[in-house]
Amino acid sequence: MWLPTLLKAIEGDMRTEGLQISAEEIYSINNGSLKDAVALFNGGCTAEVVSTQGLILTNHHCGRSAIQANSTLEHNYLREGFMAATLADELPNAGLSVTFIVRMEDVSDRINALLTEGMDEKERYAVARREGAVITAEALAGTKFDAVVRPFNHGNSWFLIVSETFRDIRLVAAPPEGIGEFGGNADNWMWPRQTGDFSVFRIYASPENTPAEHAAENKPFLPRRSLAIDMGGVRAGDFAMIYGFPGTTYYYLPSYGVEQVIDVTDPLRIALRGASLNVITAAMNADEATKLQYYSKRGSIANGWKKWQGELQGLKALGTVARKQAEEAEFLRRASGMPEYASVLPTLEKLYAEQKPYAQARELYNEFIYNGAYLPRFASGFSRLIEGRDTLSKAVADAEVKRLRAIASAHFKNYNVTVDHDVFAEQLPIVLQYQKDPLATPELQTVQTRFSGNAQRYADDLFARSVFADSSELFQLLDHYSKKNARKLAQDPAYLLATSANSTYDSKVRPRYNAISDSLDATIRIWSKGTITLFPEKTWWPDANLTLRLSYGKVEGTFPRDGLAYLPFTTLAGVMEKYDPTDPEFNVPQKLIDLYNAEDFGPYATDGEMRTCFLSSLHTTGGNSGSPVFNGKGELIGINFDRTWESTMSDIQFDPAICRNISVDIKYVLFVIDKYLGGKHLVDEMELAGMDEAPHVIDLPLHH
Ligand code: ASP
Repeated sequence: MWLPTLLKAIEGDMRTEGLQISAEEIYSINNGSLKDAVALFNGGCTAEVVSTQGLILTNHHCGRSAIQANSTLEHNYLREGFMAATLADELPNAGLSVTFIVRMEDVSDRINALLTEGMDEKERYAVARREGAVITAEALAGTKFDAVVRPFNHGNSWFLIVSETFRDIRLVAAPPEGIGEFGGNADNWMWPRQTGDFSVFRIYASPENTPAEHAAENKPFLPRRSLAIDMGGVRAGDFAMIYGFPGTTYYYLPSYGVEQVIDVTDPLRIALRGASLNVITAAMNADEATKLQYYSKRGSIANGWKKWQGELQGLKALGTVARKQAEEAEFLRRASGMPEYASVLPTLEKLYAEQKPYAQARELYNEFIYNGAYLPRFASGFSRLIEGRDTLSKAVADAEVKRLRAIASAHFKNYNVTVDHDVFAEQLPIVLQYQKDPLATPELQTVQTRFSGNAQRYADDLFARSVFADSSELFQLLDHYSKKNARKLAQDPAYLLATSANSTYDSKVRPRYNAISDSLDATIRIWSKGTITLFPEKTWWPDANLTLRLSYGKVEGTFPRDGLAYLPFTTLAGVMEKYDPTDPEFNVPQKLIDLYNAEDFGPYATDGEMRTCFLSSLHTTGGNSGSPVFNGKGELIGINFDRTWESTMSDIQFDPAICRNISVDIKYVLFVIDKYLGGKHLVDEMELAGMDEAPHVIDLPLHH
């Protein structure tokens, strides 16, 4: 996960591995470079520009909520797919954004010069913010860009990042779920994989080609750079690199931190999400309308739920705790006689032990109140109106009622009270089992006092009595808003539960958790500096932090476990092998079957096969979803979307022998756009390279 500004240092090695362009062609602030075609998509994924008219590609799972929001039961683009026939048919998406990096600059000297030993983390960050404001103001003078100064290497270094964000992003095309989500949760984080995980959007800009809110007069954005597509096909052993916005990694996590993940955070998340997933998946399979409502929510809950299971297995299989302990022992040996590092490890041990109960309470709160049933969190959104019932002026209260009506309308569009009740009822026993005084939610004592410990009866009662579970009752109340009605809402059982959970969390859990985290951050800053200095023989890079990074490697398979080999490619034949019309995750649209049977692959086959996905040894994480994968010439060969099961621990420990990222082959993307969705006009917008290149076969043990 190299910083693009530092590529010069590794250019030689990249060249040896097969890179044919220069570092300057990958990242330049003076000339157009690949970076100008790579963007942060909607704050958490990556997208790439593939035409001179602002067309971008990302994953289906990154565009999923936009596709869902544009769908109805009559026009269900999740189920059927979508193709805009003309620009006028492209669909706007409120709130969706795409951000390009204009430039990044190391400003560590300026910030670090102002930081002193005696400062705690709060002071350090306050100083960094103040100086950062000066630096960004200088950088922005006379421009319309945005800028921020961000910490890297756990606050040991600082970078200025200048960016440009576009907000009129329209949906252009999406495959049906039988292609875009093929394999569903069963295949997620797995290889072999045949998911056509892509979607197509277009950036619109003002008539002056600058960022603008959605407007009729906006025009397709003319990008500084758009990518050429490699039509020659990928082969095992080819050089590959990925450019994108990896979210978070934890390379400098000490053994105590890994133990917290293994003992506390992962198991609680898995248990609580497993409970809600059982309910949601069954309801979605039983009813189309529910499926449309819960599509995105289920997708994101399930994604974490499954990944953390793989992560637990991977950390255990690699013996990560023991490895870290050995590194820590070596650290102590090398650091002997260096007072600045003397107390680092004992401090880390003590802080993680202190943090454990708060970490547990925090997970319970997040998964139960935040990611669990909608009801309590929805109710707590009314607190301003309810708590202000005696103090808000009529005008302010009316405005708040109006705001809440809009929120409630959006909320009930995707709300199914039976599903919500069942999610709540499934999760509650787990919460009751793990929550411990004094960090437990007091209101949940009523499960004991009024329902003799019967969680199901408590849930039934809560949902039967809460106004927030019933849209018509709630809108009635809002239509006739009065202090009396607000008093009634104040006694609503869901509101009482939410307030009780929130106030316990805000007063007892969060402050303590954050205070310990601050101390941990300060210690990990020293710890990471120490490991980098004391282990010069190892390669170090800053943990991912949702900034632009590059990773390079090869198209290649792996032997992930004893007796198991992963070949680097999958094909459409594999889709047909898995095809099962009775299983919603493995159903395939008839038209794809027909194309397969007719071998109607157009120019999109490689060596006679319709390739679907490929593996490569690129270091990725969440946020790299949708990232462009390039060949040595800087042409697009695939869109990254996942990792293999044995790679799910790579956020904590990356093992280059085992870890593989999964990309959808760009030629499969074009095949689906053209042959399946009838979008030849989109392919015509793109620059296709290597159309008549002779196949270059590199012989590696793991290849077709
Ligand atoms: N599938 C991933 C995601 O959901 C991408 C990854 O983490 O490798 O973000």
